[in-house]
Amino acid sequence: MTLSAVKGFKDILPEESKRRQKIEETARNIFASCGVEEIRTPILEKTEVFARGIGEHTDIVEKEMYTFQDRNGQYLTLRPEATAGILRAVLEHKLYNTAPVLKLFTMGPMFRHERPQKGRLRQFHQINVEYIGSSSPIADAEVVFLAYEIVRQFTDEENLLLEMNSLGCPECRPLHRKDLLLFLENNKDDLCEDCQRRSKVNPLRVFDCKNEGCQAVLKLAPVIKHYICPECSNHMGKVLDALEAFGIPFVQNPYLVRGLDYYKRTTFELKGRGLGAQSTVAAGGRYDGLSTLLDGPDIPGVGMAIGVERLLLLMEEQAEPKSVDLFIAALGSEARTEALYWLAYLRRQGLKVEYSLEDKSLKAQMKQADKAGARFCLIVGEREMDEEEAILRDMNTKAQETLDLDDLPEILVEKVKSQKSQGDE
Ligand SMILES: [Zn+2]
Ligand SMILES: [Zn+2]
Repeated sequence: MTLSAVKGFKDILPEESKRRQKIEETARNIFASCGVEEIRTPILEKTEVFARGIGEHTDIVEKEMYTFQDRNGQYLTLRPEATAGILRAVLEHKLYNTAPVLKLFTMGPMFRHERPQKGRLRQFHQINVEYIGSSSPIADAEVVFLAYEIVRQFTDEENLLLEMNSLGCPECRPLHRKDLLLFLENNKDDLCEDCQRRSKVNPLRVFDCKNEGCQAVLKLAPVIKHYICPECSNHMGKVLDALEAFGIPFVQNPYLVRGLDYYKRTTFELKGRGLGAQSTVAAGGRYDGLSTLLDGPDIPGVGMAIGVERLLLLMEEQAEPKSVDLFIAALGSEARTEALYWLAYLRRQGLKVEYSLEDKSLKAQMKQADKAGARFCLIVGEREMDEEEAILRDMNTKAQETLDLDDLPEILVEKVKSQKSQGDE
């Protein structure tokens, strides 16, 4: 029996790797233009980083983390999200002393032991951004901008829905919480078991319930919007004004919540139509207060995560056609040795050049050139070597011309580049 990958863990094969590289490259370019720098933290952290940084009474920490004891008996966890680890690193290295605001991004795998389904794996990948050290509403808007700007490169903007909400602050939230608890108590008979449990542990999370009965009841529940203080309201207004200035369309969703206490004010989700229940492609918000949970000074922060697998689902399923600029079909040892020289030269000039690793028949090599999607094919055998020439075949027009071996590589570079510039017009 052949071995298979662990359930919920997926091999990323070359075709999909190409699409992921495109996402990563696009994100890197956008980050560079916004002065966001890369940080890479370990995939493994001490369990307490997440227990404190996410909260003991969350589904993530209670049920979904890959936690184990290492050989020294220390509890370690494969990171289920990026923020806690990044903040741990920022505090450990006192990076907050190096700049008034840190603008950081990271990309990589996260791990959660959830039921695998479409767009949700146990090893999944995120692109994360954290702005640490600023309370400005413009920081919130920039983080939303980055999420939107990256995602919109890969799908029709009409497919996107940006939802914004404010969760209030430690001043105004308790008033809402009190009324919400009262409401949940009065309506508990109409709520599912999960919601009844959540009401006690983490009442805001009832709004995440997918149960239709619960949703009908919760439509009447008090929403934070009617409770937020003037400062929170002012902050939200400035975030939304900035989004308008950035030209980013959004709607306000008063039911959008985060279950974690340290989330404050701005929260958002970017949804993709057509993704079904897994519709959120990016999400984030402000998390002032998180740093103190990790024993650091009180540093404000705001961040977001893009789910790469969700983004892949949103992207049009179009396989990139394979293409190389030139295929060198060389026959016989003399020509094949000479071909290696051209191969290195042309590749160093930035051309995509392929070559048959085996000394096969011309027919077999031409077939390989076709399969590789070669624009040109250079044919050189013993006879051509004797006559110090080679045949260049245009694979589109089938036209052939004979080239002199003197200056051959230079001529090839020119041919391919002029063909490319014509193609761009
Ligand atoms: Zn407030
Ligand atoms: Zn429910």
